[in-house]
Amino acid sequence: MVAGLFVSNFLACDARIDPSSFIQTRMAEDKKGLVIGIDLGTTYSCVAVWHQQHNRVEIIHNDQGNNTTPSCVAFTDHERLIGDAATNQAALNPENTIFDAKRLIGRKYSDPLVQKDKMLWPFKVVAGVNDKPMISVKYKGQEKILIAEEVSSMVLSKMRDIAEAYLEKPVKNAVVTVPAYFNDSQRKATMDAGAIIGLNVIRIINEPTAAAIAYGLDKRNDCVGQRNIFVFDFGGGTFDVSILTIENKVFQVKATAGNTHLGGEDIDNRMMNYFVEEMKRKRKVDISGNPRALRRLKSACERAKRTLSYAVTTNIEIDGLFQGIDLLSSITRAKFEEINMEVFEECMETVDRCLKDANMEKSSVHDVVLVGGSSRIPKMQQLLQDFFNGKDLCKSVNPDEAVAYGAAVQAALLTKGIENVPDLVLKDVTPLSLGVSLKGDLMSVVIPRNTTIPIKKEKVIVTIEDDQYSVRLPVCEGERVKASDNNLLGSLTISGLPPAPRGYPFDVTFTINENGILSVSAEDKVTGNRNEIIISNDKGRLSDAEISKMIKEAENYKSEDEKFLKKAKAMNDLDYHVYKIRKALKKEEISSKLSWKEKEDIMSKISRATDMLDSQNEMEDIVAIEDFLKDLKVISERIIMVMEKIV
Ligand code: AMP
Repeated sequence: MVAGLFVSNFLACDARIDPSSFIQTRMAEDKKGLVIGIDLGTTYSCVAVWHQQHNRVEIIHNDQGNNTTPSCVAFTDHERLIGDAATNQAALNPENTIFDAKRLIGRKYSDPLVQKDKMLWPFKVVAGVNDKPMISVKYKGQEKILIAEEVSSMVLSKMRDIAEAYLEKPVKNAVVTVPAYFNDSQRKATMDAGAIIGLNVIRIINEPTAAAIAYGLDKRNDCVGQRNIFVFDFGGGTFDVSILTIENKVFQVKATAGNTHLGGEDIDNRMMNYFVEEMKRKRKVDISGNPRALRRLKSACERAKRTLSYAVTTNIEIDGLFQGIDLLSSITRAKFEEINMEVFEECMETVDRCLKDANMEKSSVHDVVLVGGSSRIPKMQQLLQDFFNGKDLCKSVNPDEAVAYGAAVQAALLTKGIENVPDLVLKDVTPLSLGVSLKGDLMSVVIPRNTTIPIKKEKVIVTIEDDQYSVRLPVCEGERVKASDNNLLGSLTISGLPPAPRGYPFDVTFTINENGILSVSAEDKVTGNRNEIIISNDKGRLSDAEISKMIKEAENYKSEDEKFLKKAKAMNDLDYHVYKIRKALKKEEISSKLSWKEKEDIMSKISRATDMLDSQNEMEDIVAIEDFLKDLKVISERIIMVMEKIV
């Protein structure tokens, strides 16, 4: 029987455990080989590792020499591209170039934010089973449907490849950072993204907390007593603030607040809308339905935004943006600030809320640390500085790398056999209140927001009907009083309760682990009947079968990518040898030393090679190309021999 409930508050007991002991136990379990730190960002990602010889964190650069890699994946007729390669071709292939996947992770298709984003993305997003958003792209001429976890897994795989290339060994484990304000589903989805590519996400840590490690590592020895740090993390897709206290080796988060849907992308979109309207007004064209034009405009806006962080005005020039019409315009910093004032104000409201939650005066904050690329915006910095009564903002950490840096320190602490890692204890908090929905749609909070994690809390709940056999308990997260206004995580049911008058008690236990992930169980202690009840989490979570299917697909993608690269390399070699041999044959002194038969054979092979190169990879199979390449190498060697004799 399904019934409503009420909670007997005076019976509720708080079985809080000591978080630090929990952390220690878990760390011991996790010591399982090399662990890297990955900042999986909405727009850019960064990977770092603890360098044992140098006793410090190393930010690992990618194959382009950059320390950050675009969180972008593209599909073409021939291949899959990740990172810089994907971004570089985005304007030519906007419908099949996916970015911002982190904005979809753990969300429903019907989420108003997804609906709003969808309008601005050039790629197609459709509703899938259980209202899961699905991204539709064309890959090798066929439609491919992907979920956000899969796209994130591809970005993670790129970051792992970057680390493996640097470390020259396989990497199986990672600490991955998430926005502090990520909810339960978003955290689980991030772990699933790792599972898809066989990357063991051994710990999830919050981005501002990771940044605080990067900042506070050196500072903790300087300060006497407690140091209060305010981390302002304004990235590409998310905004987080956290207040931490550092005392000796303990980094204790006091409060966190944020918005998982506010960042540089929103600023770019606002700028983009501004220029779309300007084109309508001045050139009488509407480019809003043209993905290619929008993608080009967005890139130009992002560049202009960065310029406006150091210049007071900048030009936007895009040739033939739409129907042969150019966009030739400019924007001042003042206009930029006006367009984005709402975004900046929203950030400041969050700052205020976080201080209130931490019960801390602004004057008690010792350092205000800037993290995330968007924290470079001068207006944002000015508002923040004014808020803290003119306090100098700390810019000593690299805003793009601080999060990965902190993740790498945590990773080193979890890696077996690494010595000299700074000894520190992280005590983070849960960003959202968690509780159960009671009769009358009332949210009864079991674990309030900003409670230190890991945590285990019990609450006694009683039946509200005589002889109630079973109880269904909706579990929610959020701050609203009305449970249905909060996010429903799932429901658990306890059944087999003995016949008894209303008011029969049973225990519900909420456990949040060190990754911020919740599990809930219920037990009838009187009868000892522990109906195994783990929260039947929201239908959006991937099942084991789905993950297995995706692991297979990820392996297929990887082997297809490898095949493509192998073929591309062979074709390049082929091209090189054809060029060299042709050039050599043009030289009389070489040509005259070859027999007529030899020359005929070489020319026929060159002609076959040219056909292979002209066929644009499609028809030729790699084995045939490689075999043929061997023949050409023999010819090259023969020519070298002839040349040596001439010398
Ligand atoms: P993150 O997520 O920390 O990598 O931040 C990426 C965001 O920072 C993107 O939206 C960038 O456009 C933005 N960004 C990077 N540099 C600057 C800058 N100099 N001025 C304004 N925004 C920037």
